[in-house]
Amino acid sequence: MSAFDVIVIGSGPGGYVAAIRCAQLGMKTALVEKYSTLGGTCLNVGCIPSKALLDSSEHYHNATSTFAVHGIKTGKVSVDFKQMIQRKREVVEQTTGGIDFLMKKNKIEVLTGHGAFISETKISVSPEKGKSAEYEAKNFIIATGSKPATLPFIKLDKTRVITSTEALELKEIPKHMIIVGGGVIGLELGSVYARIGAQVTVVEYMDAIIPAMDKACGKELMRSMKKLGVKFLLSHKVKEVKATKTSVTVKADDKKGLEQEIQGDYCLVSVGRKPYTDKLGLENTSVKVDERGRIAVNEKLQTGAANIYAIGDVIKGAMLAHKAEEEGTFVAEVMAGQHPHIDYNLIPGVVYTWPEVAAVGQTEEQLKESGIPYKSGVFPFKASGRARASMDTDGMVKVLAHEGTDEILGVHMVGPRAADMIAEAVVAMEFRASAEDVSRMSHAHPTFTEAMKEAALAATGDRALHI
Ligand code: FAD
Ligand code: NAD
Repeated sequence: MSAFDVIVIGSGPGGYVAAIRCAQLGMKTALVEKYSTLGGTCLNVGCIPSKALLDSSEHYHNATSTFAVHGIKTGKVSVDFKQMIQRKREVVEQTTGGIDFLMKKNKIEVLTGHGAFISETKISVSPEKGKSAEYEAKNFIIATGSKPATLPFIKLDKTRVITSTEALELKEIPKHMIIVGGGVIGLELGSVYARIGAQVTVVEYMDAIIPAMDKACGKELMRSMKKLGVKFLLSHKVKEVKATKTSVTVKADDKKGLEQEIQGDYCLVSVGRKPYTDKLGLENTSVKVDERGRIAVNEKLQTGAANIYAIGDVIKGAMLAHKAEEEGTFVAEVMAGQHPHIDYNLIPGVVYTWPEVAAVGQTEEQLKESGIPYKSGVFPFKASGRARASMDTDGMVKVLAHEGTDEILGVHMVGPRAADMIAEAVVAMEFRASAEDVSRMSHAHPTFTEAMKEAALAATGDRALHI
């Protein structure tokens, strides 16, 4: 039986990063993955394929809607959907292949098969075909991620009533895609299909889309997505989803309790994801799960068994690839006797629609609720020369700073390249910068990042220059 210093179960961004960091720190490391490709949800059916389709559909949208204004004549432009999906597959293949390379480079043994605990120091790995084998390790890291959640009354037939996984592999462009849940997945994949010609209706239970983010972001994004033709039914409680071979019917009660019926040909259910611990043999260990099925961990991300750690989507916190990665590094360093730290308040959140939404720190609603005195500076992209040049004038940057100390407490953006721009806010907040600090730093002109400087100026005492 092979013995390792550490065995990581699950090869998503949490697991593979943990494995690399363990190997870098000199541990004999194995990585267990039940699928034949590494990379987990993120690389196979999440972050990467969704961004590939977002980029392709954005090109098409620009070709059909903004090229003419730029003075570019294209003739008839059409979508080759099969090729769009094929290119996405190639991007996924290249990216997951990159993880194979990284495992070899770091001398990490990849064990293909389903991992299950036999005891707190031993697991079995069962490949789809062939015999299972047993492996021992001093430490384990559970990084088994998450799966799409559904509502109790919705049967996912995966043909007409689908999750994000199927929505990334459709064979045709839907005529009318009904999306249950106006969160990140619904809005990103809704954007893809709306851009390439589908009618898209988002049915959201709350009174705002992306309800967990700063309310201003949801409002701005909804305005932009309506221009794409996306229809929103907010404060609608979905109560029935029925499918035939060719159609779906969604019934929801509106704010007044009146039943609304929506007909379409596909229904994407995007109401969140649930932690995945199926057949992991946790009953053979002291690892416990909480009331939501998440593995319970302490501040060192240790489970009920001191030598078994858990990270990523399978534990509490935001279900984000970069959060899982930070935790992977954290646990490896804890095991090596180091004293790492993660500031969960500084993990940014991004929605890759266009305009993009990005945020870090506290929302205005959270600051109000906790009674923290704050001031707000907002700069709209329509006042940015760079945004006018590229015709990306939707959105704004909002900087929230402490009323007394001027320390930046939250930054919320909707706009072009917000996903990349949020990094400046993360750095500023990591070093506990004040709004004035950021406002006095030179930002290249003309760039979208000037909106961050201007919002910081606005927060510093109504000192914005270009509005
Ligand atoms: P996962 O990536 O889920 O990986 C877990 C792995 O463990 C899987 O490969 C699974 O097969 C394997 N596994 C499970 N159980 C076992 C077992 N018993 N034995 C062996 N292997 C096992 N996040 C972002 O930050 N940015 C984005 O743009 C983004 N886009 C997304 C788009 C979509 C459509 C979806 C669905 C998610 C997206 N996410 C995004 C979320 C992101 O994918 C997850 O937060 C991230 O993948 C979590 O990483 P993880 O390592 O915890 O688990
Ligand atoms: P989500 O939590 O972002 O959104 C779910 C939405 O469904 C919420 O707005 C919620 O109010 C709504 N909802 C719940 N029950 C409903 C009902 N009965 N009727 C109508 N609406 C209902 O979840 P998601 O979009 O499924 O994404 C899952 C996870 O994947 C998220 O945690 C997210 O962090 C991650 N993800 C991240 C990215 C990114 O970082 N860009 C992209 C995709 C997914």
